[in-house]
Amino acid sequence: MTYQYWNPKMETLPRPDLEAWQLRQLKNMVTYALRTPFYKKRLTEAGIKSEDAIKSLKDLNRIPFTTKHDLRDGFPYGFLSIPREEVIRLHASSGTTGTPTTIYFNKEDISRWTGFVARCIYGTGCDKTDVFQNMITYGLFTGGLGFHAGGEEVGMLVIPSGAGNTTRQFRLMQDFGTTVVHATPSFLLHVEAKMREEGVSRESIKLRKAFAGAEPYSEDTRRRIEELLHIDVYNSYGLSEMNGPGVAFECPNKNGLHIWEDGYIAEIVNPDTLEPVPEGETGELVLTILCREATPILRYRTRDLSAFYPEPCSCGRTHRRLHRITGRTDDMLIINGVNLFPSQIEEVIMSIKEVGNNYLIVIEKEGVLDRITVKTEVGPTIFMDDARPLNALKERIRKTLQASITINPRVELHESGSLPISEGKAKRVQDNRSQDI
Ligand code: ADP
Ligand code: ZN
Repeated sequence: MTYQYWNPKMETLPRPDLEAWQLRQLKNMVTYALRTPFYKKRLTEAGIKSEDAIKSLKDLNRIPFTTKHDLRDGFPYGFLSIPREEVIRLHASSGTTGTPTTIYFNKEDISRWTGFVARCIYGTGCDKTDVFQNMITYGLFTGGLGFHAGGEEVGMLVIPSGAGNTTRQFRLMQDFGTTVVHATPSFLLHVEAKMREEGVSRESIKLRKAFAGAEPYSEDTRRRIEELLHIDVYNSYGLSEMNGPGVAFECPNKNGLHIWEDGYIAEIVNPDTLEPVPEGETGELVLTILCREATPILRYRTRDLSAFYPEPCSCGRTHRRLHRITGRTDDMLIINGVNLFPSQIEEVIMSIKEVGNNYLIVIEKEGVLDRITVKTEVGPTIFMDDARPLNALKERIRKTLQASITINPRVELHESGSLPISEGKAKRVQDNRSQDI
């Protein structure tokens, strides 16, 4: 395996130097934070009146957590730490779970962010010989402009194709010889199914890599995309509160996502006690941004579930690795008293090769009980008018789900391309329970 570093010094910085850097940056962030109405109050109450209160990284513990709720309360300018005239851009979260939150950037913030995204892209082996099609939503969502700028920084030819318009996407790939794409994993699966449907041969495109993120997906889904499209898929994690993409990314080992610790301090806590979990255990990821002056956000409770890999990575980067994010604490479904994450269902169904590329989980009330229906599309080897193999497949999916996650769902099979797709993040769960009451 060969490894290339965009910023060799920072990416391989020995841990003690990395921690010294973090401390310096944290103090700087506290100074900026104290200029915002929200943190001025919050930090002063916690006895932090200036950066001098932060003497070592252990003092991070003295800083109170910030929640999505706090960010919403501070809308629109409560977290802005510099004069409005120095702000050159704003972005907002997608609002998956409610009102969006806004973040601001000055010129240097944008350039630092771009550097982190370039680092991710270049680290997977891309360079200026690549043609990069950014198949993700542009606009307030950070994935579009964030990856766009990172791609240009690396020197690739960037095609700002945006999300949606599937047929046009593979036409662009054919016309310009696209070698790398960025998309949600659900959209990649959709593009693949559509290519098959329209008879577009794999040989007519030069694609070799994809960056897939913005929503949770399982290892089986990654494998499926890689096998169907004959490409390497790299997991990309980010969130607008922490700039957007460029927070954590896989290196060519594709075994955990390096979190850029010169830009972020990562903690993993038990979401109930808020105490750190033992190294290697799963908990809620808490992030502190070290690279954005205009909107410093300290100890942000992401609600995303992950764990640290205890061992260093053989690629030589000193930045720790996070496990693939399995979902958010608030994604958890309670089905007749049993806790269940949609990702557990995905893991099971995507490992069954006759299952197609799209699925939907529907939950309803049936009397006093919750009823869960897993709707999946079928793959190209299954014909919808042949009842026997269909029934056998249905039964196999049901039994596999029951055996692995102890729920007994209803299973429905649908023709390829018939379940709804969304342009942005996939909506995998339709919970109709509250409407039924
Ligand atoms: P919103 O919170 O409204 O969805 P963002 O657009 O900022 O706003 O999305 C960030 C969230 O998307 C993350 O907190 C996480 O839940 C999810 N996400 C992003 N990348 C990944 C990934 N690679 N794996 C799993 N989840 C991801
Ligand atoms: Zn690595």
